[in-house]
Amino acid sequence: MKVADVYEKSVDITRRTSNICIEALFPSRCIGCGMLGTHLCPTCLSRVESADIPPFPDTYAVWSYRDTLAHTILWKLKYRSQTALADVAAKALTDILTEIIADITLMESTAKPLLVPIPLFSAKEKERGYNQSALIVQALAQRLDSTENGNGILIKTHETQSQMATKTRKTRLENLRGAFAVSNPAHVTGRVVIVIDDVTTTGATFAEARRALKDAGAKKIICCAVAH
Ligand SMILES: [Zn+2]
Repeated sequence: MKVADVYEKSVDITRRTSNICIEALFPSRCIGCGMLGTHLCPTCLSRVESADIPPFPDTYAVWSYRDTLAHTILWKLKYRSQTALADVAAKALTDILTEIIADITLMESTAKPLLVPIPLFSAKEKERGYNQSALIVQALAQRLDSTENGNGILIKTHETQSQMATKTRKTRLENLRGAFAVSNPAHVTGRVVIVIDDVTTTGATFAEARRALKDAGAKKIICCAVAH
């Protein structure tokens, strides 16, 4: 095992048990260049390739998933328990969400938009220890006063095949059919909902989440991923 791998594994274990000591033991380093004191320095951030606009209605993304740095950040957040990277992802989404919310506020005088993360099935979340999209929403709700954290409103009713294992948008949609439900429709009825996920590829996950939220009476649904 390489020294870097040993370091990363020890970081993973320690992060799970002690977030307080972590900064002292393993100070933040820029994922791109290694600069101390930050997870992503401004120079590396400015080099992340922007996403193409996803070809789905009311759907947005910020980073290109082809970009190595974007891919690494989201991979470490999802699979390496580097949960502090949720704030890096939230920061990346802040500008576009601020614009979207400003537009909504102009057009619709409603309650604060609900930020709803794409959920994991409960057993899967237990296994991973967290839902990366819920962590991004938590960080976003702290950054954007004009929103409400809607974690738990959308639930995943059963485990589905990994989206990576299903190739086309059509098979992905079939795989996800009925996978999401709204826990408390009264909370969603007449509201503007912004669905948040780490990555969107074919848009199938967003489409199914949108369907469940629409059925529950949401007034307007916007989907936003960190990367596409
Ligand atoms: Zn850097």
